[in-house]
Amino acid sequence: MKTDFEIARETPLKPITEIAESIGVPTTALEPYGKYIAKVPYTLIDEAKVKQSNLILVTSITPTKTGNGKTTVSVGLALGMNRIGKNAIAALREPSLGPCFGMKGGAAGGGYAQVLPMEKINLHFTGDFHAITSANNMIAALLDNHIYQRREEGFGMREVLWRRVLDVNDRNLRNIITGLGSRTDGVMSEGGFDITPASEIMAIFCLAKDEADLQRRIENVVLGVTLDGKPLTVKDLGVAGAIVAILHDAIHPNLVQTTENTPAFIHGGPFANIAHGCNSVLATKMAMTFGDYTITEAGFGADLGMEKFFDIKCRKAGLSPKLTVLVATAPALKMHGGVDEKEIKTPNLEGIKRGLANMDKHIENIKAFGQTVVVCLNRFPTDTDEELDLVRRHCEELGVGFAINTAFADGGKGAEDLARLVVETIEKNPSRPLTFMYEDEDDIETKVRKVCQKVYGAKDVILKPAAKKQLARIRELGIEHFPVCIAKTQYSFSEDPKAYGMPKDFDITIRDFVINSGAEMIVAVAGSIMRMPGLPKSPQAERIYVVDGVIEGLS
Ligand code: ADP
Ligand code: MG
Repeated sequence: MKTDFEIARETPLKPITEIAESIGVPTTALEPYGKYIAKVPYTLIDEAKVKQSNLILVTSITPTKTGNGKTTVSVGLALGMNRIGKNAIAALREPSLGPCFGMKGGAAGGGYAQVLPMEKINLHFTGDFHAITSANNMIAALLDNHIYQRREEGFGMREVLWRRVLDVNDRNLRNIITGLGSRTDGVMSEGGFDITPASEIMAIFCLAKDEADLQRRIENVVLGVTLDGKPLTVKDLGVAGAIVAILHDAIHPNLVQTTENTPAFIHGGPFANIAHGCNSVLATKMAMTFGDYTITEAGFGADLGMEKFFDIKCRKAGLSPKLTVLVATAPALKMHGGVDEKEIKTPNLEGIKRGLANMDKHIENIKAFGQTVVVCLNRFPTDTDEELDLVRRHCEELGVGFAINTAFADGGKGAEDLARLVVETIEKNPSRPLTFMYEDEDDIETKVRKVCQKVYGAKDVILKPAAKKQLARIRELGIEHFPVCIAKTQYSFSEDPKAYGMPKDFDITIRDFVINSGAEMIVAVAGSIMRMPGLPKSPQAERIYVVDGVIEGLS
């Protein structure tokens, strides 16, 4: 089969104005970024239309290291639905440059189910990540200046919580000292860099409902604690307006097209551990304004991305999907069935059978949110018919809809079965309004316990002393009503990344809580979380080139 890049290069693109026209976006409102990308002003969002549109969430069973293909299935499903005559729009995250040059290559779908122009989407796109990085670092510089200019009045910080960000994987920047040099070179302090998708600004950007809300949230960001024990916020610096100005263009969703010239909005890209892991509320609502069906993806497995999508994003934005599509793959099921990772591409019915326990727990969880679920088997070339039949029969026994998707190899044609299943299920058996895993009024510890026990299947939650201390501060700040965002490994329901399948008899240990008063969520840190990834021994960057004027190797 051709590479993603070859497929992308061979696909004739339509001017972005034509794509906009196809869904009724007035072309006069477009802000084109070249021929094939445009920003669409968020003011075109129509809440009445949002209410009528059918939102579909794509999530997955616990993933392998390379991912189960949620983005590929999301794009494929949009293609399949358009092919059967439905107006369906994908709403997805923007890829981060760090992973593109590290492990993952591109993150714009794969095979014949991609969003295009993939090399632009994977690299600088419309500069949204640049704007978010700049906004974050502008706050860092203004904070350091605030401390420097007032040091002689006795002003100082007991603790600085704000870190700098950059959209690269750079382990050397995780912990740094700034302000070295002479007296006029600043006040020396310890700091560090996170990757841009881990920035609170990214989370705020993706949850804000308009610019006023963006400003309010940025004002509320807590930067640290002063020597007299008071929280210092962006509002105290008086610079929130300037930060909103940096994000003034970025805040509008980006319109692009798929490999079959159907529309997709790509906007915002927070991680699904330290943040909530889905595209901006504005992009989802924009897609819902112009599409009868909106297909969106939540990061990592359903225990992480989906839970946060429902309990954080949908709760706050008033969204309630009509259907959840659970992506499973034969290799991932084998991994959960205890098959060695080097052997998961070899036929093994017993392995799959044992691995179904992981899928079953995710199905049970999806239903607990009040969602109707269908399983999409994302077919890999190494899968056998017997293996797929086994999964199909299992779903039939459970009474859960099932479809095989081959959009990676066949484009929209390979997703028509899934598209028909999705349309039919939404007509006959749509989801109930969302049931959340916890109530706003629950205290933070209860919220964490409910997610850990109900969604992960944990026995109990153990709080380390640092976490208990933070809880006291959270109470003091009066922000116990915020949702929780649990930062846990994506490779297991438990906090042990090697415990595949459906682990039992485990506790979740919360080491710390991170207060995100702008994003309005409390991050509960379970295990070690990656805020700044490193690069592998042989990074993808060794295989990226510009050849004859085109970029190769982004996949
Ligand atoms: P996720 O969004 O779940 O992380 P992606 O859609 O990004 O997953 O897919 C992960 C990787 O697997 C990508 O490189 C993609 O091209 C590849 N991939 C996805 N589906 C298939 C498939 N059916 N066959 C082969 N490769 C696939
Ligand atoms: Mg993805």
